[in-house]
Amino acid sequence: MTFRTRFAPSPTGPLHLGHAYSAITAHDMARHAGGAFLLRMEDTDLQRAKPEWDALILEDLTWLGLTWDGPVLRQSEQLDSYTPALNRFADMDLLYPCSCSRSQIQAALAAPQEGVAHDVYPGTCKHRTMDSRQPGDALRLHLDRALDRLGGALPCFVETGPARRGTHRIEPDHARSEIGDIVLSRKGDGIVAYFLASALDDIAQSITVVVRGEDLFDFTPIQVLLLSLLDLPIPRYRHHGLIRDETGKRLAKRDDARAIATYRAAGKTPQDIRAMVGL
Ligand code: GLU
Repeated sequence: MTFRTRFAPSPTGPLHLGHAYSAITAHDMARHAGGAFLLRMEDTDLQRAKPEWDALILEDLTWLGLTWDGPVLRQSEQLDSYTPALNRFADMDLLYPCSCSRSQIQAALAAPQEGVAHDVYPGTCKHRTMDSRQPGDALRLHLDRALDRLGGALPCFVETGPARRGTHRIEPDHARSEIGDIVLSRKGDGIVAYFLASALDDIAQSITVVVRGEDLFDFTPIQVLLLSLLDLPIPRYRHHGLIRDETGKRLAKRDDARAIATYRAAGKTPQDIRAMVGL
């Protein structure tokens, strides 16, 4: 099987050192393996994703000397492509509408959920059926029914990154405490949730190994669960360590001092960037 990986930035800010590390790592692995390196803009957040950031990211990647195979996939240009998956979840009776606001959800949760990738939904709208769906309602996965549907066949995935190498199985208790009834279609605009679009596109782009930062590791069980419910193949995953600042803090997108564009303007070379991220 040909090695195929991708870099999938959200164009909501400039490319910084952490992104550059991720992109170079995935790119070099693909080139080394004689495989393919694809580029995907995860721009479904129509408020925050901006064409200016998209253009700057492409410019920075090119300046870094990276080349990608085929055209750039932009999720905003193919929002309809996610509808069949949502319909399949509906046909399997795994969805329910939800009108809760973020503040209602937080108020219903007794305490902040530390160490959990996202707030686990308290289940306020769980009793609702699809025929009670109102315009603007979100659609949530009914996790208990999803687990029933999988029966004893627990989804699993292979992690090849150094920190958590091995086969990871998604246990029902873990799914209930860490995943819960996740949103698959967003409140308001009805756009597909980020982690579903991303998982579907990994399959649509025939990605064999998802290379990305370990900050996204906790999303993997969610994505693997969704792909399993849809009977889609599960790629392998490789989560790499994160680039941190001098104080050990993970670099954030708003940290413009570490934006690649800032280093470029200051006269650094792509080799300097590789050296700065330890490559
Ligand atoms: N779009 C995500 C981000 O920029 C990355 C998603 C992924 O690599 O799976 O954080």
